[in-house]
Amino acid sequence: MKVPAGLAGSAITVARVPSPIEEVRDERLGGVRLLLKRDDLIHPEISGNKWRKLKYNLGPGRVLTFGGAYSNHIRAVAAAGAAYGFETIGVIRGEEHLPLNPSLAYAVSRGMRLTYLDRSTYRRKHTPEVIDALRAEFGDFRLLPEGGSNAAAVRGCAEIPAELDAQLDSYDLVCCPVGTGGTLAGIAAGLAPGREAVGFSVLKGGEFLAGEVARLQREALGRVTGNWRIECGFHFGGYARSRPELEEFASDFAVRHGLRLDLIYVAKMMYGIYALARELAPGTVVVALITG
Ligand SMILES: *Cc1c(COP(=O)(O)O)cnc(C)c1O
Repeated sequence: MKVPAGLAGSAITVARVPSPIEEVRDERLGGVRLLLKRDDLIHPEISGNKWRKLKYNLGPGRVLTFGGAYSNHIRAVAAAGAAYGFETIGVIRGEEHLPLNPSLAYAVSRGMRLTYLDRSTYRRKHTPEVIDALRAEFGDFRLLPEGGSNAAAVRGCAEIPAELDAQLDSYDLVCCPVGTGGTLAGIAAGLAPGREAVGFSVLKGGEFLAGEVARLQREALGRVTGNWRIECGFHFGGYARSRPELEEFASDFAVRHGLRLDLIYVAKMMYGIYALARELAPGTVVVALITG
């Protein structure tokens, strides 16, 4: 993939915030109103919640971060480095496979340097031993955790409810998919009293994620807010796994509403929202964050 000339100049100006809101009209929702917060339209290359999470993590110097070979976070960090002019290093789980897959080829095209850790070392990636070895190899860097979830990411996502407050008369619930929990931690942190955030785990066994969200809120705010929960029953087999009913739901949604839902994250949340809608009081206004 070739880097378009002038990316660095244009990328800064193309960020579209506040992201637009669209209503979904669907009789299957009963009396529930469903609004889509289209964060997928924020930026052509630093898509969705990754733009929010990176916003306060940008800055001069070199950034090193971690991810799988298909990680959206790795792509987004590489794009941000090219757009905002900082060096990036991507530490990838597993062995190098050539030719690079499209995600990693894209990252390299945006100037990211890649290195690989075997799976057992990767599991210890946040230990001083592994970090010191990376510093010895690459020099000093700012470390962004896997998925980009840290206190600065929580701050970036906490701006979502403020946008909603300016765009909507009222709403009750804000929903998002949950991978590492940074997005949910931020949304809940930014909500006014009386509103709630519901996350949908895309991981199997996502019960541990509540501890992660709490940890991130403590890091960012010094406390845990009581206005969020995580639904763990819509993972469809686990991360990047799928089932025919999820694919059918997503293709039907595309036909009805003209929007292709990302199957790894967004479709799982949306399936969960349609399931939960049956239990919500008529008139409830649900905002679904389209994270990518
Ligand atoms: C990374 C990602 C998520 C997960 O966000 P977390 O803050 O890690 O929970 C959700 N949706 C999309 C499209 C993503 O790329």
